[in-house]
Amino acid sequence: MLTELPRGKADAVIVGGGIIGCSAAYFAAKAGLEVVLVDKGAVGFEQSTRNWGWIHQQVRHPHLIPFSMYSRRIWEGLEAELGADLEWRQGGNINLAGNQPDMEAFEGYLAAAGPSALDVELLGPAETQKMLPGIGNDVLGSLHVGSDGQANPRLVTRAFADAARGLGVTIVENCAVNSMLTSGNRTTGVATERGAIEAEQVVIACGAWSRRMLKPLGIKLPQNAIRSTVIRTTPASKYTQATGWAGDVAFRQDARGKFVLAAGNRSTFDVNLDSITDLLSFGKTAWHYRSQLKVGVGKVLLRDVFTLLPGTAHHAAPWAQLRNNEPPPDLGAAAPNLDGFHRLLPQFSHLAVEEIWAGNVDMTPDQAPVLDNATGVKGLVIATGFSGHGFALGPGGGQTTAALLQGMTPEVDIHGFRLARFAEGNVPELVPFHPVRETRR
Ligand SMILES: Cc1cc2nc3c(=O)[nH]c(=O)nc-3n(C[C@H](O)[C@H](O)[C@H](O)COP(=O)(O)OP(=O)(O)OC[C@H]3O[C@@H](n4cnc5c(N)ncnc54)[C@H](O)[C@@H]3O)c2cc1C
Repeated sequence: MLTELPRGKADAVIVGGGIIGCSAAYFAAKAGLEVVLVDKGAVGFEQSTRNWGWIHQQVRHPHLIPFSMYSRRIWEGLEAELGADLEWRQGGNINLAGNQPDMEAFEGYLAAAGPSALDVELLGPAETQKMLPGIGNDVLGSLHVGSDGQANPRLVTRAFADAARGLGVTIVENCAVNSMLTSGNRTTGVATERGAIEAEQVVIACGAWSRRMLKPLGIKLPQNAIRSTVIRTTPASKYTQATGWAGDVAFRQDARGKFVLAAGNRSTFDVNLDSITDLLSFGKTAWHYRSQLKVGVGKVLLRDVFTLLPGTAHHAAPWAQLRNNEPPPDLGAAAPNLDGFHRLLPQFSHLAVEEIWAGNVDMTPDQAPVLDNATGVKGLVIATGFSGHGFALGPGGGQTTAALLQGMTPEVDIHGFRLARFAEGNVPELVPFHPVRETRR
């Protein structure tokens, strides 16, 4: 049954029911705001339920670490806060060094992260093998963060949505927002496929689609996405609560003993209409990761082209065509991914693939989010671009968005997440802790 659109004027309408939108709705309602959340499909259908489930703090920019620590502190009390089992476990995160360049990158990261007070440490081979019994002798050491955790992505966004509903938030699913409504230089709400929703403020938390939502207002957000494939194996006996990365495979053992695996260094970039203009903003990053990216030219580009052609369903209702968008897994990436896992931990060679899926990971050029009040359009808050970290940063992102809606200063400095940084060219250098390795195709 479709939820009725609310009649009165809300304090805020949040567009996008991923972890960012749902946590923002929860924290804003907890602070007393009247909130409506709208999603073109089902809540949590996109990145927020497709991710690996890592709650990691060693993000690529050291200036992001305080924010990730802030979010992790919220995670520590989140099950009690939401009254839900999220399968949260604080088993740490371990990045394995298979060669000297890995170790050097880890040392560089340790030095850069030093001032942040994050519990990051370098472990030698013996300590690493103690933590992950059975890994090969060619592991030189690891970068370890003990306070990192994991949770089940299929539970978390729903739990935020349920708790938000409990605080009076109206959640409207299967209702695409077509555009934002403005009067002068102020937002007044959104126009959806089922009518208008009036609100004092609007939050754009549309994940990979935020750029397209903002464009008609003349707001340029450099954002694109890469497609990443994930595998879940059959169950094994309990082995580790740590999440781990080892070059060609990233792993997490879930609460049922199944391993969630992904290619640590292999993704697909689906060429789309924005790719041309993106060459300038993403060129450097794309070049850096060129050996890990497969380029796909096909359905995604065609879909975009159809939106330009009058008379097509895509042109008439572009957002409705993206409802419950299901990116296809790259089966060619799945086999080497499983092989990599079997090579790393031969004692699990008997495990087979139980499930496979893909998700579009939204990215900004500096792989840091945009959390900002839009300049030029009063009442518009942008909360997007979480660049592969949004599950970990989700609770902090939601809490911070709620602070912006209340006109309060966020608890953690978000100066580095200003939208203007791209136009200013004021983007700090990345400190990668995962060195780029040539990918076996
Ligand atoms: C395969 C994969 C692995 C990942 N692994 C991790 C990890 O281990 N740890 C981590 O921290 N992060 C990880 N991430 C990243 C993380 O999942 C994202 O950063 C995070 O989920 C982003 O949340 P979001 O709410 O911004 O976007 P999303 O979850 O994508 O939600 C956006 C929502 O907006 C809705 N929407 C868009 N346009 C409209 C419109 N016009 N009208 C109405 N609704 C609209 C969409 O339907 C969608 O539900 C991973 C991502 C993927 C895909």
